[in-house]
Amino acid sequence: MKRVVVLGCSGSIGRQTLKIIDDNPDLFSLVGVSVNNSIAFLNEVIDKHPSIEICCIGREEDKERVHHSKIYSGEDGLSILASYANADIVVNALLGYVGLRPTLAAIKSSNDIAIANKEALVCGGELIKQELRNHPVNVYPIDSEHSAIYQCLVGEDKRKVKRLIITASGGPFRTNSLKELETVTKEEALHHPTWSMGEKITIDSATLVNKGLEVIEAHYLFNLPYEKISVVIHPESIVHSMVEFIDGSIKAQLGKPTMEVPILYALNGGKRSLKEDCYLDFESKLNLHFEPLDFKRFKAVALAYEVGKKGGNLPLAYSVSNEIAVHAFLDDKIAFKDIVEIVKEVVNTIAHYPLDSEAAIEVAIRESQDLTRSIITRRKERE
Ligand code: MG
Repeated sequence: MKRVVVLGCSGSIGRQTLKIIDDNPDLFSLVGVSVNNSIAFLNEVIDKHPSIEICCIGREEDKERVHHSKIYSGEDGLSILASYANADIVVNALLGYVGLRPTLAAIKSSNDIAIANKEALVCGGELIKQELRNHPVNVYPIDSEHSAIYQCLVGEDKRKVKRLIITASGGPFRTNSLKELETVTKEEALHHPTWSMGEKITIDSATLVNKGLEVIEAHYLFNLPYEKISVVIHPESIVHSMVEFIDGSIKAQLGKPTMEVPILYALNGGKRSLKEDCYLDFESKLNLHFEPLDFKRFKAVALAYEVGKKGGNLPLAYSVSNEIAVHAFLDDKIAFKDIVEIVKEVVNTIAHYPLDSEAAIEVAIRESQDLTRSIITRRKERE
């Protein structure tokens, strides 16, 4: 029986993780959970799971509303949950860079991690790698592409890898021209053709910043140079990613586009277990298409390679400025096309320096946030 802590249990990945845990009571026991503001949801989870020993919420003042006695709050609370000694694995389903400190805390206390929080890897990849050298815990990716690559690499010699091939659905605007991309609406951007996800990642999938983040995530997870990471458009989202080897063989992982499969695989420490409702149907016609990514229309991916190769604070600046720009777009403050333009302006303007400590990361996050907000304000004033 694996004892599981779920950080960010009210989000899309968090809820699906709870479902996987509920579907497999012989495999998993839920011992810790966190939410930010969704106290009513947290109480439902606590009432349903007497196994919960520890929980965390966003704000101290909400503590008295929670149906549990062992309750922490804020970022420090998240790190306490992540390093909980009675846990076997910590699911990081947090949104944004806020997931970085708990990730480092889990590693330092030798808890295995199932990670869905790509921003944490992008912002603190170097530091995470450094901590992993001191505390070699297992990190299981939940992101479908990275889970696919992880599965393709099982039993392989990584030196024989020619390249990772990350698939991208292309999002709702795969076929739109550059001109058309200038006028797309929020409703159109929030409608993803193949995946049902939270709002932030759905917008990231429309700009393809999500794919950019995934390229950087792959670099840190699999320790491969950017020259060995490529992206291909695959509209059906059935091939979740591939690995090409030096002899020309390609291994791919296929399956229905549901996050439950990678979540189950990660929770189970890279082992397979029964999941009856997820079989692909080859009795009806199944078409799989692949096309090259148009880097000119989707500049976010080219930009990710650029910042990824430069390293230091630039991947963090890319991720943090995007978080702010996406929220500004969702609040109707900027247009869709502005998101990547703002990210580009931030990474081209900000000073470039290494990130070698948590303190340096905190400073870099604040600096990127301030610069992004001032760029958004300046653009508004020019309008
Ligand atoms: Mg993904």
